Amino acid sequence: MAGCRSGAPGSEQAWLEVAQAFIQETLCPPGKEPDVQLAQLVIDCVKTTWLSQGTSQGLTLPLSYSFVSVKDLRTHQRLPCCSHLSWSSTVYQAWAQEAGPRGVPLPRERLLLLGTLTDLSGNLEQECRNGSLYIRDNTGALDCELIDLDLSWLGHFFLFPSWSYLPSPMKSPGEGHVELWGTPVPVFPLTISPGPLTPIPVVYPEMASRLLRYRSKHRNVQPNLAGNLIRFSALVKSQKKAYFVLFLGGSSPAGTQVSVIVQVPAQLVWHRALCPGRAYVLTELRVSKLPGHRYRVWMTSTSSQLLPLKPECVRELELELAGVPLEADPQSLPRPSSPQDKKRPGPDCLVRDSILLSYTGMVTDTLNQPAGLYELDRKLELCLAYQQFRGLRRVVRPGVRLELQDVHLLQSVGGGTRRPILAPCLRGAVLLRGFSHQVPETQFSHQVPQASLYEQLVWEHQLGLPIYLWVTKALEDLACKLCPHVLRYHQFLKYSSPGDPSLGLQILAPILEVLIPPGCPGRNTHSEILEEPHHCPLQKYTQLQTPCFFPTLAFLKEEAKRRAWASFDPKTLLPLPEASHLPSWQLNQRLAWSWQCLLPSAFCPAPVLLGILVPSSRKGCLRLRDQSGSLSCLLLAQPLQPLTDPRLIGCLVRADRFQLVIERNVRSSFPSWKELSTTDFIQKKQARVYVQFLLADALILSVPRPVLHSATSSTPPRTEPSPPEGPHIEQSRLFLLSHKEALMKRNFSVPPSASSETLMLFEEGGSSCVSQHPLELAGCASCLTVQDEWTVELASSQDIPEVLGIRPTLPESSLTDLLSGNFADSLVSFSAEIVSHLWMKPGSSGAVRRCVKLTVALETADYKFPPHLDVYIEDPHLPPPLGLLPGARVYFHQLEKRVSRSHNVYCCFRSSTCVQVLHFPPDTTVSAPLPHIYLAELLQGDKAPFRATASCHVVSVFSLHLLWVCAHCTSICPQGRCPRQSPACPTQTSVSQASIRLLVEDGTAEAVVTCRNHQVAAVLGLCPSEWTSLLEFVRGPGKVALQFTGPGAQLESSAEVDEPLTLFLWTLCTSFSVLRPMVLSFELERKPSKIIPLEAPRLQRFQCGESPFLTRVNPKIRLSCLFIQEHEHPNALGALVSSC
Ligand SMILES: [Zn+2]
Ligand SMILES: [Zn+2]
Repeated sequence: MAGCRSGAPGSEQAWLEVAQAFIQETLCPPGKEPDVQLAQLVIDCVKTTWLSQGTSQGLTLPLSYSFVSVKDLRTHQRLPCCSHLSWSSTVYQAWAQEAGPRGVPLPRERLLLLGTLTDLSGNLEQECRNGSLYIRDNTGALDCELIDLDLSWLGHFFLFPSWSYLPSPMKSPGEGHVELWGTPVPVFPLTISPGPLTPIPVVYPEMASRLLRYRSKHRNVQPNLAGNLIRFSALVKSQKKAYFVLFLGGSSPAGTQVSVIVQVPAQLVWHRALCPGRAYVLTELRVSKLPGHRYRVWMTSTSSQLLPLKPECVRELELELAGVPLEADPQSLPRPSSPQDKKRPGPDCLVRDSILLSYTGMVTDTLNQPAGLYELDRKLELCLAYQQFRGLRRVVRPGVRLELQDVHLLQSVGGGTRRPILAPCLRGAVLLRGFSHQVPETQFSHQVPQASLYEQLVWEHQLGLPIYLWVTKALEDLACKLCPHVLRYHQFLKYSSPGDPSLGLQILAPILEVLIPPGCPGRNTHSEILEEPHHCPLQKYTQLQTPCFFPTLAFLKEEAKRRAWASFDPKTLLPLPEASHLPSWQLNQRLAWSWQCLLPSAFCPAPVLLGILVPSSRKGCLRLRDQSGSLSCLLLAQPLQPLTDPRLIGCLVRADRFQLVIERNVRSSFPSWKELSTTDFIQKKQARVYVQFLLADALILSVPRPVLHSATSSTPPRTEPSPPEGPHIEQSRLFLLSHKEALMKRNFSVPPSASSETLMLFEEGGSSCVSQHPLELAGCASCLTVQDEWTVELASSQDIPEVLGIRPTLPESSLTDLLSGNFADSLVSFSAEIVSHLWMKPGSSGAVRRCVKLTVALETADYKFPPHLDVYIEDPHLPPPLGLLPGARVYFHQLEKRVSRSHNVYCCFRSSTCVQVLHFPPDTTVSAPLPHIYLAELLQGDKAPFRATASCHVVSVFSLHLLWVCAHCTSICPQGRCPRQSPACPTQTSVSQASIRLLVEDGTAEAVVTCRNHQVAAVLGLCPSEWTSLLEFVRGPGKVALQFTGPGAQLESSAEVDEPLTLFLWTLCTSFSVLRPMVLSFELERKPSKIIPLEAPRLQRFQCGESPFLTRVNPKIRLSCLFIQEHEHPNALGALVSSC
């Protein structure tokens, strides 16, 4: 503080000289001779006040104090402070203690403040009066707040012995204010105005009320009104006018009340002086009609005065009323109907009434200062947003005591608010009852815009309190996500205008459209204050179901992981009938990868996804980013339409429809199914979380670019490219993008070049441009390395008129090429739906290295049933790209085609392979039923379905194998013990396995079906307990194998033929309990290919009675059983046969 400190403490003379110079310059009327008398009066006043504290330490002058002018306080005092001339240190200590354990007390400065108390801000025109109070000296005026104003103080010169100064939180000097503690000390004695010589004629409220309603011959009389102040409204300031209303009543509370509108600027300061319960006289009132209202009200005239009522100074005025009432009693007027009344509440939206009450309490916390939300007495919430509380806002902070008159109490408003809320509307005033001892919190204070979005929400969008409270929370969450990197806080909360919409409002708009009924009228401030019964936005409310929330991306990611692991249960992933037959490696392989898709509806309330779209050069994918972190995402413009516009980078994306995908990778060592509930066997868990959504479902909002650059990259924000130096010329080039290749890690980098180019891309999928061997081009001279400073833009069709209107199509290999043995073109491209996704460990069947096996169903218009194909992804292409989920439709570009030893075609990822997801998996995975076919349809080669269901009849059993194998090494275990020695298997668990081969026919063709494990029990028609007992009998020998040869079903058994077990199985397999009709769901044993042509039907000789004959017999179809259902109608097969 650089005030006028005394140069030499202890030197009274020096102090006095400085004081006199200050008074002369700052307080004496400017341009006049030095006023020695005034200086002496001021110093005497200071001295008296100083000595009144009692501990003046023998000093007659407060030498440690210095005078401060309004200007110095405004310009030099940057920190909140207080000054108490009349207080001893002990008093100050006690005062500071009251700041409470959490609050920081205002630091004490030793300053002397003097000035004139006025309601005139600067110039002397009356229009400048708006009810505010100022301290003025020669250097300027300073806003001040005072708790109990005496109107007679106005215009007088005071010493302010106790005050605190709060500089502007907006960092703009001159906006601070003074809070005046205690009564100011007049420098000149105040003249007490003598009472009127003759008693003032007054009317009382009863008569005043009747005067309004009756035509009176005293129309031109401006009566004086006397009565008790019942209540008064908030000070309403509109662009046109500022006013408030006071209500005077008789001595009994139930008597007539009469309202008086005060709107003369010079009288607005009365608002600070009024005290409910006291009696007043208002002089020279006039009757006026309110625009838009039918009835008339009392108003003050410019010459009206507010006087305390002294019974001895008034006499009642006798007035005669004549004629009929001009209008009905305003109190019995029908209330103008509002749309809220017309709205019939549904059964689930219960309309509640708030309670009007008065409350006095202390603000204990600031919940959201710009939104006007505070905590009262640690148990209530206070919302000041429904009043114009700009003046109050700077004063209200923890420690302030408030008296709330006619305030609404709302309970259970919902929307995440739990405590009861007190919210004053314009009807009741909020009275300051005590200033805070605390230094204001800086949390929000530096960020309050003058006209904020919050005010707009209440006054223009007409939000009810429950919605308003929810919106403030949502805006707080959004600010946490976006400020300050994307936007400054005040930018985010700024007033929204049509040409300059607020980002916060744009994000909330889709929800507000649903929550706010259209066509809500604006608030009528006069009605809100005057009408009975009372009607305002706080009067009726419905509990709000929280519509949604805006979680941070970090929260969403963590919550997704938490839920994915909470729901991870090996026993649900592997149902017991199947799991009980799996050896250890298979069990763990099946658990190695699983996924979960969370929809917003899985959360309550539903989350809304919000973030800035940024590219991740490290991971090669797009990410959403907010202040908390980032989340990988997979976007489609709309189904089948990939994202192509690079301008989306840096945009704010808001989506309420999305899929939150968690891919779980588990490294486990479960010895067998018995241990599946023991989590100790899980060695490593990893989850990959990302979101996928359609841009068509999202709201794209652009954000200021310069701010964004600093947020998303470490490089400083780039301005417009500067003119290049030397021979470099900035240029743009147009390129046609023919194809993309996979992202690869490279171990060299090109030094940055000085030139700046814009790379224009036009995407087209002409297969003629596609090189079949792209890697061969890598060393080619025409290779262009994209520089860091280049920008890529999507060229418009106008740039290339000749390709206008060409819709790029993705190149696809023909299905014949794909499934044939032709290797002229070993790179294939196709789109397909992913059927399954399996992680395979090295050593497991078919896999040499760690790899992912995708089984895909090729998409083709030519085939009724899509052929299936396996696609393998091996290191270094692991982990696989995002979105390769069962049910997703994916375009694979340039996969390498290979053929297995068993002549199955399969594909592998290679460096040039590129993957594009075309369609996300459906939200609800309802598995389509398998097609029901005749077996003969399978003879149509690659037109046959890969999986299907057929109603057929078991003709005979070819073989049956029942074994017990070691769960670890799959050796056969006689007596349930693994025979392997040195090294012995780590666990001695054995699992049973079974397989049966059957001949089935459905009247159109025959097929050989292999059923495994739990399917065997179904084929044999055994219930679970019978099946378990049967397997227990096999445990002793470890293996029972039966071969049935020929149509007579001769038995070949590994065991003794006459053993009871063998006999039982033989009898069972030749009985009608097995040889029966059934509904068989199956898949082909081999995937279709064109490498081995279909076997032609061959001639076979049959003996029928005496005569042999030849007939063409189709080759047997080989099927693997998926599941078996019993035939519901035993006669149906007969009917089928007869219909053929
Ligand atoms: Zn109200
Ligand atoms: Zn073993």
